[in-house]
Amino acid sequence: MRNPDYKVALIVPVYNEHETVETFVNTVNEKLAPELEHIEIVFIDDGSSDNTVELIEKLQENDKKISLIRLSRNFGKEAAMSAALDLVQSDAIVPIDVDLQDPPELVLDFIRIWRDEGIDTVYGVREDRSSDTSTKRVSSEGFYYVFNKMSGKVKIPSNVGDFRLIDRKIIDILKTLKERNRFMKALYAWPGFSSKGVGYTRPERVAGQTKWNYWKLWNFALDGIFAFSSLPLKVWSYIGGFIGLLSLIYMTWNILKTMIFGNPTAGYTTLICVILFLGAVQLISIGILGEYVGRLSQEVKGRPVYVAQSITGPLAKKIPQGL
Ligand code: UDP
Ligand code: MG
Repeated sequence: MRNPDYKVALIVPVYNEHETVETFVNTVNEKLAPELEHIEIVFIDDGSSDNTVELIEKLQENDKKISLIRLSRNFGKEAAMSAALDLVQSDAIVPIDVDLQDPPELVLDFIRIWRDEGIDTVYGVREDRSSDTSTKRVSSEGFYYVFNKMSGKVKIPSNVGDFRLIDRKIIDILKTLKERNRFMKALYAWPGFSSKGVGYTRPERVAGQTKWNYWKLWNFALDGIFAFSSLPLKVWSYIGGFIGLLSLIYMTWNILKTMIFGNPTAGYTTLICVILFLGAVQLISIGILGEYVGRLSQEVKGRPVYVAQSITGPLAKKIPQGL
């Protein structure tokens, strides 16, 4: 059913990862030995400022399945993966982290399910997240819950990252999604087709430091929600309507009270509370508008998601027009 000479590309974004690239390649060669003839490795250097590129170029001399796409500066992991989706030609791709937090041996299961069962997306499900802090676990659960409630028809499974095998047919559809704000987790889910999860335990990074912090994660979550839901925009008319209704009741009560009991000067507390409350509600709603307008302006400008400066290794030969 699948082409017997299939090629699966591991797409590996790297940003200042000199501590991990070599271990990664060695682990792939060791753990994926039964499938090596079908595997290629495509590193995307996301503008590293250390010697990551030199290390990869050195590895390329002895290992003919390693390609390298170099971006012209740091564009972020999502942009790096978009570059790979656009440029890689293989029958399936597997986005995988270089720090071995996505165990390469799982790719054997991915390939088996894709090849033998005909499933189009096989994703890794993090079953045991004890290597993450409890704050990170709770916030990530909360995010998946909120996202799936708000996003309408595009659902993302919880505890699933980018680590997955994606069939060519889906890659070709993903290439037509031209938005600049690339929340890959949900974009991967957008085309649909058959999918299946495989459980695994997510280990700690082998070496080096994570590039994420809570502020970045928060913004990443906002990007996802604003890109896949317009509920935050619409909710203000309902909040406004509700506050309007309450005000009407309160107004009627005050008019009646004044008519019956007269008007001894009072009400400063009420006044200040109402002003502050409504001020805050208005500022939040303007802020939300700003979030959408900011993203709209990014989309309208239509700048490319990434700029690739060079491709080396076997992939270079498959891109006839070059860069
Ligand atoms: N990464 C990247 N560009 C960036 C930040 C990270 O290409 O701006 C790569 C990084 O080299 C690694 C992967 O994305 O291969 C995941 O990064 P990290 O381990 O820091 O994230 P975490 O596993 O903590 O979510
Ligand atoms: Mg990591």
